[in-house]
Amino acid sequence: MATAPALPAHLSRAAAVAMDAADPLGPFIGEFTLPEGVIYLNGNSLGPSPTAAIARLNEAAIDEWSKGLVTSWNRAGWFQLPYRLGDRIAGLIGADPGEVVMTDGTSLNLFRMVAAALAMRPDRRVIVMEGSNFPTDNYVIQGLIETLGRGHVIRFAEKAEITAAITDDVAAVVLTQVHYKSAHILDMAAISAQARAVGALTVWDLCHSAGAMPVDLNGCGVDFAVGCTYKYLNGGPGSPGFQFAAARHQADMVQPLTGWWGHAAPFAFDRDYAPATGIGRMLTGTQPILSMIAAEAGIDIAARAGLSATRAKSRALGELFQALVAARLGDAGFGLGSPADAGNRGGHIAFEHAHGYPIMKALISKGVIGDFRAPTTIRFGFSPLYLRYADIWDAVDVLHAIMTTGLWQDPAFAAVDAVT
Ligand SMILES: *Cc1c(COP(=O)(O)O)cnc(C)c1O
Repeated sequence: MATAPALPAHLSRAAAVAMDAADPLGPFIGEFTLPEGVIYLNGNSLGPSPTAAIARLNEAAIDEWSKGLVTSWNRAGWFQLPYRLGDRIAGLIGADPGEVVMTDGTSLNLFRMVAAALAMRPDRRVIVMEGSNFPTDNYVIQGLIETLGRGHVIRFAEKAEITAAITDDVAAVVLTQVHYKSAHILDMAAISAQARAVGALTVWDLCHSAGAMPVDLNGCGVDFAVGCTYKYLNGGPGSPGFQFAAARHQADMVQPLTGWWGHAAPFAFDRDYAPATGIGRMLTGTQPILSMIAAEAGIDIAARAGLSATRAKSRALGELFQALVAARLGDAGFGLGSPADAGNRGGHIAFEHAHGYPIMKALISKGVIGDFRAPTTIRFGFSPLYLRYADIWDAVDVLHAIMTTGLWQDPAFAAVDAVT
């Protein structure tokens, strides 16, 4: 192998170590439990476990469930959790108390929120969506309009086409702020203003923005939003998502999954449904309490770290990764699948490579965990609360070794797993 040219000083490992020493977010790494020898670049898919979450989960299982039994609905505040944690999430996404509930998963929440939006625009039939969005969003709305049977249609528009697609026949604009694959950021303020100007309602999906960057729902005049907590908020596998409805809509909004938790008086056990006042009417049924309890630690960490600092470090980690890949792997066939300017992309970077799948499997075998999205995308997430600059340097070093030794061509890395 030819001797590699020396890296410029600012890309040396020593420079990365020096950045860690000066990093105000550095101490947060001590709040997470991660396996030894792993560099975790997949917090955009499933965040790692906050140590406090594990302790809290144990305590809740033993004290509240095993000992408290059914009394814990009152004594441990279980029944209020969707509201209490919703208010904490509100503080992370530019919403006010009473505008957010934590509940269910994003797919289900999106169904309810879009149904509510469509009901508020009964004379309009068009829904604008980005076709390349994470597919569950498309699937859920396709199922919703099929079963509604009122002739709604989806007008698919990619990033550059969205402005032209928002016309005065649009009922709802349903978009994800940060794209799950490319990480491109849509202009929430401008798109929401345009939707408002033509009388359409907005439903924003914050799955890849909540916990990753400052979000200003009310500052952008957003109508409705959903998001998940198991990605950048480190809530745990399958932790419930959340729904936001601007206060100005709450008295008028209706939704189709009218279960007892959304009733005005659930314990009156009335025969007929009557919606709760406020955001509570967006609930349906009994919540996964242990998962909800486990999620609070991650929400708490995000609030303490602060989203501006989180975003700044995430950008810097991503820029370092990008610069190192360009400097060390410039001829290895990796094409940037994300906006080149870090200001235009969210918390992860996508690269396109014809052999993305075995390369990612080889990386994971060496303790560098990212993920693969068919057909050719590999993603690296820069969730900064448990990542060091030196980890980024080391991750690229491992990638460099895998490419130069050809390890990725080992047949062991060709077999495709069920979850990628
Ligand atoms: C992660 C993600 C989801 C996940 O939906 P679930 O119902 O939690 O499985 C939905 N939409 C987008 C855009 C996502 O990134």
